[in-house]
Amino acid sequence: MTSATKYLFGPVPSRRFGRSLGVDLTPFKTCSLDCVFCQLGHTTVKTLERREYVPLKDVLVEIGDWMHNGGTADYITLAGSGEPTLHSGFGKLIDFIHANSDIPVALLTNGTTLYSPDVRESAAKADVVKVTMSAYDQESFARLHRPCEGVTFNKLLNGTYAFRRDFKRSLWIEVFLVDGINSDIENVRRIAELTKQIKPDKTQLNTCVRPPCEETAVAVSKDKMDELSRLFEPPAEVISEFRSNCPIIEVNEIDIIEMLRRRPCTAVQVAESFDMHLNEVSKYIGKLLRKGVIRSEGGGAGAFYVAVKSKKELIIQ
Ligand code: SF4
Repeated sequence: MTSATKYLFGPVPSRRFGRSLGVDLTPFKTCSLDCVFCQLGHTTVKTLERREYVPLKDVLVEIGDWMHNGGTADYITLAGSGEPTLHSGFGKLIDFIHANSDIPVALLTNGTTLYSPDVRESAAKADVVKVTMSAYDQESFARLHRPCEGVTFNKLLNGTYAFRRDFKRSLWIEVFLVDGINSDIENVRRIAELTKQIKPDKTQLNTCVRPPCEETAVAVSKDKMDELSRLFEPPAEVISEFRSNCPIIEVNEIDIIEMLRRRPCTAVQVAESFDMHLNEVSKYIGKLLRKGVIRSEGGGAGAFYVAVKSKKELIIQ
């Protein structure tokens, strides 16, 4: 992406969707949940209200320009600074993309709005819908996701079942495991049983390898994730990018490292300097932290990042 955009980020490389252009339909950070493992930090607007959080016409202009300028991606993904289905116009956005390109659309949702027939109708326009299903009862759901009023585990489950009944394209389930909260074999067996009833086309297991919202949200080890994946039928795919799987430093990462070597910056400052979307920067920062190339000073949105290795040291490695 060469010019600054407000609602588009990337295309960024994604293990799940190849080169994915992200579309952000909510202001940071608007969600019906406040998950302990969220890599975006605390939910500031916790709501189930569906409305036009950002002007749909402006999003359509941005994406239309991107297509007109020859933009290419493996997927256009509705995700970003919160829950995309809270935007009342997300179905119209998918219609626009399908009418103007052949790029498939992926919708990443926490599933909490799928109880609504309107949301299900709009979500069914996507080519791939990925729903998070990480709890096995109301208590684990509340502990893991800290939902807003009106959101319950049963509503999530019934909404997802109802969606699966009508949705004939690709439905993926992502199970996010947090050590000590939902990672015991018995817990995961229960999640696997629920997942089986949903009949997804694919099940993926993830854990908190990126800096989570709460320090108490601890990642499950790679060996245990592999073991737990076999409780699903067919076995789930482990998608967490554990340290040993990290790719070598990418060009954008080197630019960010060089800047942080000269002066500590917040994520917002990095985004402004490189004309990048904050979400894209968050992904790079998460990767660099995991690689031990930068460190954070302070916490939350005001944290400063400092490079602890230079470009030269990384290239020698
Ligand atoms: S992980 Fe997703 S569903 Fe959970 S709080 Fe973050 S944005 Fe919302």
